[in-house]
Amino acid sequence: MSPASSGPSARGLLPDELRGWVAAAGAPAYRAEQIFRWLHAHGVESTAEMANVPPALREALEAAHPLRPLALDVVQTARDGTRKLRWKTHDGRAIESVLIPDTDAERDKLTLCVSSQVGCAIDCQFCATATLGFGRHLGADEIVEQITRATAIAGRRPTNLVFMGMGEPLHNFDQLTRALALLEHPWGAAFSPRRITVSTAGLVSGIDKLAALSPAPNLAISLNATTDEVRDRIMPINRRWPIAALLDAARRFPLSHGRRVTFEYVLLAGVNDTDADADRLVRLLRDIPSKVNLIPWNGFPIQTDGGPVYRFQRPPAERIRTFQERVRASGMAIYIRSPRGDDIDAACGQLAARPDSDLATIRPWTPTPS
Ligand code: SF4
Repeated sequence: MSPASSGPSARGLLPDELRGWVAAAGAPAYRAEQIFRWLHAHGVESTAEMANVPPALREALEAAHPLRPLALDVVQTARDGTRKLRWKTHDGRAIESVLIPDTDAERDKLTLCVSSQVGCAIDCQFCATATLGFGRHLGADEIVEQITRATAIAGRRPTNLVFMGMGEPLHNFDQLTRALALLEHPWGAAFSPRRITVSTAGLVSGIDKLAALSPAPNLAISLNATTDEVRDRIMPINRRWPIAALLDAARRFPLSHGRRVTFEYVLLAGVNDTDADADRLVRLLRDIPSKVNLIPWNGFPIQTDGGPVYRFQRPPAERIRTFQERVRASGMAIYIRSPRGDDIDAACGQLAARPDSDLATIRPWTPTPS
């Protein structure tokens, strides 16, 4: 059977679907668990590696649900230990995952940032992935394989998974939730939903669907502005779901056992980093159990007719500290997340978007209202 006429990858099948296929193939039921463990606990790239599964069953599985393993294309390692992995999908698309060790060795934390789409349709103006446009949704198999393969590369299981790589995960809701079910299943990696964070640019309908999962993963919202005027400009999705609607969705999101909504706030000099922004941020979030991550913009150039330019600037360190202090004075939890691995193409999409030739001259660019 050719791959074109085959079903979805075996790596994307839920346990019940695998049980159904095993039964239809006339094999004993326990083979489903064996196959699932090979795919999700051991992360095999080929059915040939499933040593305790009979060859005939492996071949039937490969024919019906062929694996389409990611090919590791580029690894960039930063001075701080952050490793950026660029994968090529079976159809030649570039996606990224980032392994981020905690700089505080006592916490022994390893976060893995994964992609959910090839490119992205949301078009946030400060984001390198947006410059790629939308390619396609990733399948659940391609999402979970980033995790099993990165685990092998790191030599240990990540302690935390964050869906903050390329793409808007809630735009790919069905494959996202399938991937979560695979990742959380006890036959596989058995990740706790408490260790998984889904980050959205603000798809309110998707936040409400995510809230209905039981249990729901953690929620992060990429906020980045305190007025609709600015957010409309830097995040066009705000025209569909403005700040008030987005924050109402955050208030509806189920939180238990001290969980909080994380608000990401990319600081852009002269755009969203004023004292007035800090004060508005406090007012907007004061009734939501939350914490704020301030992320000084990790610059990347875009190509224009006049050559490569930077759309934004990272605020000076003093401005970043003042913003943080002003918010913190209200009692709100707010942390500066210095861009990790900023000696490599660490912002999501930068490595995939990287042109083959080096960029020669860069000049500043001033954002204007659209
Ligand atoms: S920040 Fe996220 S949602 Fe916005 S364009 Fe980039 S990848 Fe898409």
